[in-house]
Amino acid sequence: MTEAEHHTYDVVVVGAGGAGLRAAIEARSQGMRTAVICKSLFGKAHTVMAEGGIAASMGNVNAGDNWQVHFRDTMRGGKFLNHWRMAELHAREAPDRVWELETWGALFDRTKDGRISQRNFGGHEYPRLAHVGDRTGLELIRTLQQRVVALQQQDAEEYGDPEARLRVFQECTVTRVLKDGQRVGGVFGYARESGRFFVVSAPAVVLATGGIGKSYRVTSNSWEYTGDGHALALLAGAALVNMEFVQFHPTGMVWPPSVKGILVTESVRGDGGVLRNSENRRFMFDYVPDVFRKHYAQTEQEADGWYTDPDRHRRPPELLPRDEVARAINAEVKAGRGSPHGGVFLDVSTRMSAQEIVRRLPSMHHQFKELADVDITAEPMEVGPTCHYVMGGVDVDPDTAAAVGVPGLYAAGEVAGGMHGSNRLGGNSLSDLLVFGRRAGLHAARYAAALGPDRPAVPAQQVETAAAEALRPFSAEDSPGENPYGVHQELQQTMNDLVGIIRREEEMRQALERLSALRCRAGRAGVEGHRQFNPGWHLALDLRNMLLVSECVARAALERTESRGGHTRDDHPEMARSWRGVNLLCTLDDVAQEPEPGIRLTRRQNPPMRSDLLALFEREELGKYYTDEELAP
Ligand code: FAD
Repeated sequence: MTEAEHHTYDVVVVGAGGAGLRAAIEARSQGMRTAVICKSLFGKAHTVMAEGGIAASMGNVNAGDNWQVHFRDTMRGGKFLNHWRMAELHAREAPDRVWELETWGALFDRTKDGRISQRNFGGHEYPRLAHVGDRTGLELIRTLQQRVVALQQQDAEEYGDPEARLRVFQECTVTRVLKDGQRVGGVFGYARESGRFFVVSAPAVVLATGGIGKSYRVTSNSWEYTGDGHALALLAGAALVNMEFVQFHPTGMVWPPSVKGILVTESVRGDGGVLRNSENRRFMFDYVPDVFRKHYAQTEQEADGWYTDPDRHRRPPELLPRDEVARAINAEVKAGRGSPHGGVFLDVSTRMSAQEIVRRLPSMHHQFKELADVDITAEPMEVGPTCHYVMGGVDVDPDTAAAVGVPGLYAAGEVAGGMHGSNRLGGNSLSDLLVFGRRAGLHAARYAAALGPDRPAVPAQQVETAAAEALRPFSAEDSPGENPYGVHQELQQTMNDLVGIIRREEEMRQALERLSALRCRAGRAGVEGHRQFNPGWHLALDLRNMLLVSECVARAALERTESRGGHTRDDHPEMARSWRGVNLLCTLDDVAQEPEPGIRLTRRQNPPMRSDLLALFEREELGKYYTDEELAP
């Protein structure tokens, strides 16, 4: 029988980024005994890296802003494929979540009259991003951690034990969601340091594991982003929605090679930075699509006027949604007008004083000086697209964040799908984490409380199977087995080259063949040594997740024969109105078929938008996205 440490809680949250912590705080505040499990150190989640800010229509800088305008921008950014109810809840509740953070101790930058400052970002009509310089994520996590500690101090007073109702298990990786029949019963995983197994029994599990970027070679994402929550949900019987939509941020570092992909925040453009090609041309004016033409400046003079007088000028095209800017940069480089290292130039040095640049963009200044020996107060940066965010994720109920079809399973943050449609606007992730993190924690708590004594059990056989799966890399049949690092590199190259920013049918078919071969090889991945802190072993286990998720991306991308948001098809360059209402769902063919169940793809219609929300848009605009039948009175 497998040796594993056993714990029992009401709610277990997998992930301690913004979504996970906000969920855990809520579940504990509802009186539930809550466990948080994270595979990195507590405080080092991906959310820490967020730079630009949190989008919330507080209207502090421009009183014209409100939730309806934010909702409109979000739907436009997602090209109307978003689940409208998620976009509505998000726009309505984001301001409360930011103000709540402030009451918990967050110190945002201020306007001159002392309110929370808000900055411009791509696709947002008004200055909307509450921020702390370009280190907003750090402040968000610090504040949420502080809140966790405050709750633990309350428990120390009340129960004599700070962890009585909220405990963090750090450096622990969950490899399976356990089930009792259809219902969730807990999770299985291992401690990274000791390699020992653990089981946490709990009737409600919230997945808050973030994204999938480590399946790509050039990415802004950190080592944690191996799609674990996406894969855990699939394996537990949930569906993933919109997986073809992967966001390539337009501005990652391109030089030197060792730092290729590291993010250059959109705040650089929001604060006045401009993009130029090797001919010194501000090329974004050439790439404003028809659907956005009405809202964007057509001359440099008009664009520059917007920074000081936004009511009488239209926005600069550098602030188009990310998918548009990324494609434009790609096209410039392809046309031979790129920078020496295969990107384009992003310049703030001619737009602001050196002092102002250092004050507003301290991390960018430091990052370029330290990593590329470039002084951004005096010279332009070289930038190019980098894999940044996945819009696709667990198919959830918009109001409760419950995973459709799996009682007891919840998902929030980047691991959940639907909210951002085909393309996320900058700043809309941090607000998404808080809005839906809270909702997931709340509804997980209510679900667990309502069960009473009728709690699911954790079947011993599942624990045995999960343990055997985790130990397999130590007993690779054809010793020494495949090198997990080699398989990972090939996977990243495959996704980068064949399912990247511009996609073609033959290439995606080739990718699927390669992924299938890589899956066989990953099944033979072998590691040496023991279970104590063994990164090769950890990677061998992560490969299952990255390969499952990559296959979902490739299959859905092949199926969607149009270009929309984060999905660009060279062979189908137009956005097709008939595809707008279609969601592609990925599920496992046969969950019981171990270890290699295949991915099944199905189509589902997006539910029609409520009429009062539809009325927020002009009919002429809707006609560019919706079919005539959909708009028929
Ligand atoms: P994360 O913060 O990544 O947390 C995931 C957690 O899950 C971690 O604790 C991890 O250890 C844990 N985990 C993962 N797998 C497992 C497992 N198997 N077992 C146990 N634990 C696991 N968005 C904005 O809105 N504004 C910005 O300014 C902004 N800037 C960004 C800058 C950068 C450089 C990057 C990369 C992203 C930025 N984003 C921004 C996007 C945003 O930061 C992320 O989408 C968001 O932080 C994701 O939060 P999360 O809570 O979903 O996941």
